[in-house]
Amino acid sequence: MYTADDVMKIVKEQEIEFIRVEFLDYAGLIRGRTIRPDNLRDAMERGINFSTAIMSFDSFDEYIPNPMYGAGDGDFFAVPDPATFVILPYRRKTARMLCDLVDENGDPWPGCPRHALKRLLKEVESVMGGRMYMAYEQEAYLLREENGRLVPADDSHCFSPDGVDIQEDFVQSFVHALEAMGVRTEQISSEYGPGQLEVNLRYTHALQATDDQVTFKQVFKQIARDKGLIGTLMPKPFEHLAGSGLHVHISLYNDAGENLFADNTDPRGLDLSEKAYHFIGGLLKHGRSLIAIGAPSINSYKRMRPGTWAPAHICYGAGNRSVLVRIPEKRRTRRFEFRGGDGTCNPYLLSACLVAAGLDGIHNRIHPGEPASDDVSWLTEAQMQERGIARLPRTLEEAVDSLSQDTILAQAIGREIWEEYIKIKRTEWEKYTRHVSDWERRLFAQRF
Ligand code: GLU
Ligand code: MG
Ligand code: MG
Repeated sequence: MYTADDVMKIVKEQEIEFIRVEFLDYAGLIRGRTIRPDNLRDAMERGINFSTAIMSFDSFDEYIPNPMYGAGDGDFFAVPDPATFVILPYRRKTARMLCDLVDENGDPWPGCPRHALKRLLKEVESVMGGRMYMAYEQEAYLLREENGRLVPADDSHCFSPDGVDIQEDFVQSFVHALEAMGVRTEQISSEYGPGQLEVNLRYTHALQATDDQVTFKQVFKQIARDKGLIGTLMPKPFEHLAGSGLHVHISLYNDAGENLFADNTDPRGLDLSEKAYHFIGGLLKHGRSLIAIGAPSINSYKRMRPGTWAPAHICYGAGNRSVLVRIPEKRRTRRFEFRGGDGTCNPYLLSACLVAAGLDGIHNRIHPGEPASDDVSWLTEAQMQERGIARLPRTLEEAVDSLSQDTILAQAIGREIWEEYIKIKRTEWEKYTRHVSDWERRLFAQRF
């Protein structure tokens, strides 16, 4: 892990001229400035000032009405973390660093999601006796513009070698760039949708895994743009094609390298420990509000429909892709996969809330009940009731309503972030419900 001195040395030796210092706002958009090497030492010591109002933008990059952080609310300081220093292999003499946000006195700014995650990860270590690991697994489309319309960049099919072959130039540039930036990749697949790819990242400790997702998100888009394509993590770009999910694999290891989520005496035969069950119990208990954090855009809810392999129900199951929390087959390392996220989330908030929900499960010994072994997509209301399985929220509004009742997540990410986040998401929902689309006009104007 680099120190500030290491970073200064590398910048000098490699003749780096531009350092992009970046953080994420609540809507998950990457923001920052580019600084010159002479300012870097000072930036790492004192931070770079930004108006706090910059956090109060929505996903459409519009400043929300009546924000908590307005024009009169001063600045926070973005302090680049030396551990995140990477050289951008596809730009000239340019590096990138991710930031923690501090206040005027240099104390963690209460509005900083990366800090909230760090705090919760410490709590995991003391409460659970191990370190939390994650692997973010993002699906994404490559698109091109045709007669002013966005269409998939190729018409490859699921797991087709053609998909990766046609996009070889993009795929290799993207994977090499990630590797050069210290993000380890494991496999590349052509996903179900034409032009849809999945690049699996190797699991690593949770903070690094979350930083890696920020890198993925940015590099996927930047390299696509370099190749004349549009790379998008948008959850449901086309009504009739597969959506793009963001799945998070979660595991727990102690210093001796023991997997604390594994137990081969598990009476259910899933080889999961009590800790694992309780953590999953917490994820399910907070499932509705976790969705508001993991799938936070109006488009997210067009992805999470029954029968699409994206979750629509709150339950868990082994080898089951219709559930919110999937336990991979026993041949694979014991862990579980939260399937409710997508690329429009702020990954720091998602990781933080996953951890907070899991910790609630641990503290209160919440058992998740019996796993679902069937495709739950087609259960009737009566069957759902009988088995105690609820639907996930069907709209952003429903999800945000759940989050607004969730005092445990509020406390975990901090009241300030929670309140402002809810306000931002309600603004997005409000704009969406006001919008009259071409489709609507075409359907109604002639008939009524
Ligand atoms: N595309 C699905 C989703 O939106 C996931 C498919 C898979 O399991 O790889 O979550
Ligand atoms: Mg996939
Ligand atoms: Mg997956």
